[in-house]
Amino acid sequence: MASLPVIVVHGGAGNIPRARESMSSAGVREAAKAGYVCLQAGGSAMDAVVEAVTLLENNPTFNAGRGSVLTQKGTVEMDAIVMDGRTLASGAVSAVRRIANPVQLARLVMDKTSHLCLTAEGASQFARNMGIPEVQEESLITEYSIMRWRKNLSPDANPVESHMGKMGTVGAVAVDLQGNIACATSTGGMLNKMEGRVGDTPCIGCGAYADNKLGAVSPTGHGEAIMKVTLSRLILFYMEQGKSVREAADMGLAYMWDRVQGRGGVVVVDPKGEWVARFNSLQMAWAAAQGGQLHYGMYGEEHFTRDIQEQKEPEPQSQEAHSPTRSTDTHTDTQ
Ligand code: ASP
Repeated sequence: MASLPVIVVHGGAGNIPRARESMSSAGVREAAKAGYVCLQAGGSAMDAVVEAVTLLENNPTFNAGRGSVLTQKGTVEMDAIVMDGRTLASGAVSAVRRIANPVQLARLVMDKTSHLCLTAEGASQFARNMGIPEVQEESLITEYSIMRWRKNLSPDANPVESHMGKMGTVGAVAVDLQGNIACATSTGGMLNKMEGRVGDTPCIGCGAYADNKLGAVSPTGHGEAIMKVTLSRLILFYMEQGKSVREAADMGLAYMWDRVQGRGGVVVVDPKGEWVARFNSLQMAWAAAQGGQLHYGMYGEEHFTRDIQEQKEPEPQSQEAHSPTRSTDTHTDTQ
């Protein structure tokens, strides 16, 4: 049943390697819980999504902040965005380097400038002016990201397919107790992208959109495809036409597939607190918190539910872990 507050997070659409499934699932559950605690304490939807995405950026499992994929040259260039549904204020950064939490810098762009997006060196200069410390690039790079970069330097690697194999962009949408709506998305982008490539994430209407009158969307997937169909605004347009969150999400993803053969996923909320996590990739780690319940899943229609207070984490995922008959979790196919 829909109720407020609610937060839904994702950890990227793609094919998550078996060995990383439980880390991805644990990461999104932890982020959803942290955002929910913030919302229950009266925090704003904006505070909650930034809190959740900051945790995911700090978690090296995901392709955002520490753990970001590398460019062709082996550097880290990150994109992030936030949007506030009360006023349609938004802030973004693109191709930023040596910043631990691009989502927080995006929020500062929204709060402290009259611009919507700052890029590259200008964004770094702004970060310095705001007192945000520069971090060593190495601190953002993991052994796993180096391994993937090396593999993808192979001349036969297909950039879209190889990226779809291991994505982990992160995002969150939330509605707070006042009914205000916000979203945030953060990414290292596409594996082995050209330096200077900017994807969907920092582009308003593509990598995020929030409007108190309609709802909010945070997407993940092949950025060039998401941009061609302005996926986030497209889904909200369908909702404006009277579609449910689920219908609108599925229509948006279907349109992206039909028109540009793009794969990806989205988390969506509406002002009443109806929410959905949908994707047309093999997997997308997602989690939602609402009404004292934690919801989560990773494959297709998978949907586990348990009490948010329950301390016991589910068993690490095994070969059969995505079957609907797990331990104490209840499973429904409703999202
Ligand atoms: N959309 C992101 C980008 O293209 C990547 C992703 O979601 O995995 O930069």
